[in-house]
This record gives sequence, structure tokens and C-alpha cells, in this order.
Amino acid sequence: MVKENIKINLLGLSRDKLINFFAEIGEKPFRAKQIMQWIHQYGVHDFDEMTNISKSLREKLKGISKIEGPEIVLQNISSDGTRKWVMKMPGGSSIETVLIPEGDRGTLCISSQIGCALDCSFCSTGKQGFNRNLSTEEIVGQIWNAIASFDNLDRVKDRPVTNVVFMGMGEPLLNFDNVMDAISIMMDDFAYSISKKRLTISTAGVVPAIDKMCGLTDASIAVSLHAPNDELRNQLVPVNKKYPIKVLLDSVRNYLDQLSDKRKATIEYTLIAGINDRKIHASQLINLLKDVPCKINLIPFNPFPGSGYKKPSNTEVRFFQDMLINAGYITTVRTTRGDDIDAACGQLVGKVEDRTRRSARYIELQELKN
Ligand code: SAH
Repeated sequence: MVKENIKINLLGLSRDKLINFFAEIGEKPFRAKQIMQWIHQYGVHDFDEMTNISKSLREKLKGISKIEGPEIVLQNISSDGTRKWVMKMPGGSSIETVLIPEGDRGTLCISSQIGCALDCSFCSTGKQGFNRNLSTEEIVGQIWNAIASFDNLDRVKDRPVTNVVFMGMGEPLLNFDNVMDAISIMMDDFAYSISKKRLTISTAGVVPAIDKMCGLTDASIAVSLHAPNDELRNQLVPVNKKYPIKVLLDSVRNYLDQLSDKRKATIEYTLIAGINDRKIHASQLINLLKDVPCKINLIPFNPFPGSGYKKPSNTEVRFFQDMLINAGYITTVRTTRGDDIDAACGQLVGKVEDRTRRSARYIELQELKN
């Protein structure tokens, strides 16, 4: 793992990987916990601040490793307190991360890829095309940067990030290994201690990856359903042609069944005027989900230039919601937060350079690392 001249970014190493890293340099496993606390709990990037680590080990670490988050090129704070960051990636692309504060909860919406390959018809990230997967350190770097942006933080008392949702740019389950490593760091008690109920992977329905999650993680799951029948879903969420609704819902049920607690999936349903928001759609949805332990989150479509779709009126949203509630489903409507800074769902576009091929520079770096 330790190669000459290439400094390993410790931000991206899970506890297991840190233990291996220390073993390779002849150090005991407990060093992994120590360093995780420094990096993730105290936000330290300078090895010299790590007072319980000997000077000689600090020097050794400086020679072979670094602690470095993605470069923040823009931070916006919305009038409602929502924060959005644009972070620049090697190769010129950028990603976006959003923090939504609500009472004593702070939900961080993070990105897992630069762009997205799934091309859902109503999503502006999809319209940007796909560039590459984010590395584990780039995913974890988003929470690290978000917390570091708070001045005068009492790191024990104030927890600006209590919940994490993989609902930013990208399809997390198409970046499986890095996302699994990132969530193991986020859930680690020596890092961010985000509980399984407060960490949600959102997927458009990559069924083999949902199956693969069984036994590997117990994070919560959200499914971007958006349509109650295959014909419509094929148009809105093209991955449905590969993994149709029944196969998807079976896989979700199976994932929930093997968890040690009785947890529900979140069904995300973006309401698009005249497309999937009619009474017939609500009726079909009620029928479709009757055997799936779930709660439903309705997202009124957020328009973007050239989308060709419209947002339903509040009355229409209310009507749809009431039908689901009357049928016994817990149904919430996602309030639009941070839209004055373009931080709302489907507005996270970043800047996707070089979308047809992976950045040559990035591949070079990866090859050097491997
Ligand atoms: N690829 C994952 C993660 C993205 S999550 C997934 O599909 O679940 C982002 C959520 O916002 C998804 O439910 C997505 O379908 C929804 N969304 C995307 N564009 C939107 C828009 N313009 N208006 C409202 N919701 C949108």
C-alpha cells in the first residue's frame, strides 16, 4: 500500500484499511483508532498536532501520508440556513454537497460520482453525463469539509452533521466499494458515529448492488421509484428496463428482511405535473407498495432549464399525498430547501468535464497509486 513518493490520503482509509496501513509500517492496530479520532473527530490535518503520537511516528507519517479534503471553491449559505459547497476535483470537474439544518438535526447530502450515467429524464445531474466515480477520500472529504466550515465548533456538543444521505450527484450503488468504505468510516465510533438509521443510501434501483449490500452494511435505504408501473418508469428512470419494478421491490424487501431491526425503506417519488401525479398513479402506487415496509417521500419536481417538465401545484401535491395517507402510508412532502442557492434536489450539477472518457490525468494518478 505504501509506495514511494505517493502520499496516501488517510482521510479515505476505513478502520480495517488503517490497521493494514499501520501493520505495513510496523505499528500496532490501536494507532488506527487514534488517527481516526484526530482526523475525523478533531478535524486535524497536521500530524504535529497529534499529541499522543510520538515525534518519530509523526515524522514517518508525514513522509508517506497526508490528510487532505477536496478543495472548496465555493461556499454558499442560503437564507434558510442551507449550506452548499462546490468542491473541485483533480481533472477540472467539480461536485456539490449540501447541508440542511433542521432544529437539532443537520442532514448532509453528499455526492458519490462526478455526474451520473443513469440519465433519469427529470434530473439535471443526469443531463451532465458521467465522468468518474469519487474515491473514498473524496466522499468522506465532503463531511470532513462540511464540519470544518463551522467556526468555533465544540466538536463534542455541536454536531452540525447528524444525518447523511447519498442524494447528491451520482448513483452510489454504481460506486459500490468506495461508498461502502466511506459509510464504514461515517458510521465508525472513532470517526463520525452516524447511526444506521441516520445514514441513507439512495438508489435508482441497481438491484445486484442492493443484493450485495446484504450482510455488508446495515445502512438505511431509499429507492427513487418515481412511477407506479414499468411503462412509465422505463421512460423516467431508464435503469428500470434492466431491473423492473417487481425485481427492484423484491430486492428491497429482502434487504430490509435481513436487517436486525424492523426498518422501513424510503420511497422517493418526484411528482411531475401531468406525468406521474394523477389519481390513477396514486392508486397504482398504493397497490404496488402494500407488501413493502416503507414510508413515502414526495418531491415536487424542481424545474431546470430545458427539462420540459413542470412542477405540480401545491393543491395537486396535497391531493396525491392525502390519497397515500388515507391508504395508511406515512407520506411526507420534501420541502424545497436552499433553492435560492440552487441546492435543491436535482439542481446539483457541479461541473462535469470530460464526460465521454475518464480524465487522463486521473487515470495516471490511479495507476500510480495501484
Ligand atoms: N442516484 C441516486 C441518488 C440521487 S438522489 C438516486 O437516484 O436515488 C436525488 C433524488 O432527487 C432522487 O430521488 C432523484 O430522482 C431526485 N431528483 C432528481 N432530479 C430532480 C428534480 N429535478 N426535481 C426533484 N427531484 C429530483
